Amino acid sequence: MTDLAERLTALDARIADAARAVGRDPGALTRIVVTKFHPAQVVADLAALGVRDVGENRQQELTAKRAALQQVEGPAADVRWHFIGQLQSKKARAVRAASDCVHSVDRDRVADALHAADPDGSVLDVFLQVNLTDDPGRGGISPGEVETLAEHVAARCPSLRVCGVMAVAPLTQAPAAAFERLAAAADAVRRVVPDAAWMSAGMSGDFAEAIAAGATHLRIGTAITGPRPADG
Ligand SMILES: *Cc1c(COP(=O)(O)O)cnc(C)c1O
Repeated sequence: MTDLAERLTALDARIADAARAVGRDPGALTRIVVTKFHPAQVVADLAALGVRDVGENRQQELTAKRAALQQVEGPAADVRWHFIGQLQSKKARAVRAASDCVHSVDRDRVADALHAADPDGSVLDVFLQVNLTDDPGRGGISPGEVETLAEHVAARCPSLRVCGVMAVAPLTQAPAAAFERLAAAADAVRRVVPDAAWMSAGMSGDFAEAIAAGATHLRIGTAITGPRPADG
């Protein structure tokens, strides 16, 4: 088995253990492999191993890799692309064109731009990103404002489907406590959109805590891909 296949298998076993430890069904979790900074070939290799969901955090990289892989025959042409990076309104059109799901809607303007990019097209799944840090410069809306953002998207952006909340745990706090705050934000969003059942949380270092707090979509990079070539 290749290193990539070994790491994928090992990580999936750890995810399954973490889920069973808290009485959850591992089959109900979506494991997204974050392939940022890695060449498109890594996505092709992952697809050959059965990976169906991949994540990218930069629009240009997403667009280029998706285009490259649509040229090839085989499973890589069918992966679902998740955009997980900070999103600027001016990039919304390109992100929408290349994404099956966007995890980082964090203000009205971004939602409006995503909707305007394809108002009559097929509905795009979006997560509302919540900022769990004290630094307003980080991506995400504050937990206290997420319900209002959900109201805006539900009322004004019919081509977007609010499917849940997303966050990155802050470095300065225990992830379990942070993810509990995210779970509370998820409840707030469900007061507006009752079907918004998903929670995108958990990375290589904290997926077990995220699963315990109710995560449905895990975003795992280095634990599967190995170190990123040029992280910057
Ligand atoms: C890079 C990234 C991940 C994956 O992080 P790892 O620690 O490599 O698992 C998850 N979510 C976001 C938003 C990222 O940018």
